[in-house]
Amino acid sequence: MNILVTGGAGYIGSHTCVALLEAGHTVIVADNLINSKAETLERVMQITGKDIIFYQIDVTQAAAVETLFAKHSLDGVIHFAGLKAVGESVDKPLAYYYNNIVSTMVLAQACQKYNVPRFVFSSSATVYGENKVPFVETMKLLPTTNPYGETKAISERILTDVVNANPQWSVALLRYFNPVGAHESGLIGEAPTGIPNNLMPYIAQVAKGKLDKLRIFGNDYPTVDGTGVRDYIHVMDLAEGHVVALARMSAGVSIYNLGTGQGTSVLELVESFVAANGIEIPYEIVARRPGDIAKCYADVTKAKKELNWSTTRNIMDMCRDAWGFEKNYKD
Ligand code: NAD
Ligand code: UDP
Repeated sequence: MNILVTGGAGYIGSHTCVALLEAGHTVIVADNLINSKAETLERVMQITGKDIIFYQIDVTQAAAVETLFAKHSLDGVIHFAGLKAVGESVDKPLAYYYNNIVSTMVLAQACQKYNVPRFVFSSSATVYGENKVPFVETMKLLPTTNPYGETKAISERILTDVVNANPQWSVALLRYFNPVGAHESGLIGEAPTGIPNNLMPYIAQVAKGKLDKLRIFGNDYPTVDGTGVRDYIHVMDLAEGHVVALARMSAGVSIYNLGTGQGTSVLELVESFVAANGIEIPYEIVARRPGDIAKCYADVTKAKKELNWSTTRNIMDMCRDAWGFEKNYKD
């Protein structure tokens, strides 16, 4: 299939490009490189030995998007492009609402106009808000605590309404849990600018000596050891989930949790990193981070049953590959 990957130079997008190319698809990337580098796409081509067609465009710009759709006969779109920093979204709500929602609308419109049958959307477990774990696709969504989360919930609603009006269209809303790790080659991975907000890249930078110690946000949650619990998923498992969803999606909206179904606490992740890589991670316990929930993990029954997809990589693999990329990575 000819697949347009928006945000394909980014963290999850680039790993998905690898999985798509390895599955024999033709990949066209649209990315404005606001949070990524073109060099990542060269590395994807190096890993796979296959070419990518690249457009450096902003996918909120309808004219540029239409030019691309007119040129390529697309079988599907995977829409990763978006801004994703939760804290920044509180300070810059307009930038987040504009970029994340307008891009979804422009791409949906182009799919309608050019009869592109499949649309896969990067949603997030954040749309479950403070529901009870494990999160199930049928749960009523609760308000999220920040504009970023709202952009995901609103985009899901827009796409659902478009399908209601056009029931022959196929949309998959993929709710990611916590993607971590990197491609096994160590050539591509997560390279946040500045000090990382997320746990795994922070740990990896402590391991490298770029940061002095990890600050663990709270040890008084109602969890196994008091620290926050998340469902970490290896980014290559997540990438492969997209390839499977594309192949199996049918008319209408389908919603899938992409996670492992296993919760891991902050302290457990630190211990796994130390065991996988033999590097000590100094840490201190500090106050809770505002907006954090105690536990977030998926019920993965639906993806297993309907997509015949489940994860194959464990926490040790995630820690090994996160470090494999970090130790090679040069700012
Ligand atoms: P990323 O920032 O690494 O990748 C996003 C890419 O989109 C970047 O390459 C950026 O340059 C590009 N981009 C942003 N706005 C654009 C625009 N208007 N036009 C063209 N390109 C644009 O982020 P990621 O971690 O790979 O996340 C991919 C998607 O998955 C995002 O939609 C994100 O919200 C969602 N998601 C991520 C996580 C996570 O923890 N990483 C969790 C749940 C959902
Ligand atoms: N966390 C932490 N220190 C950090 C970053 C994160 O203790 O420097 C904790 C955070 O409180 C949460 C877990 O690690 O319990 C995962 O956080 P992350 O930001 O990676 O993911 P999210 O909270 O968005 O699910």
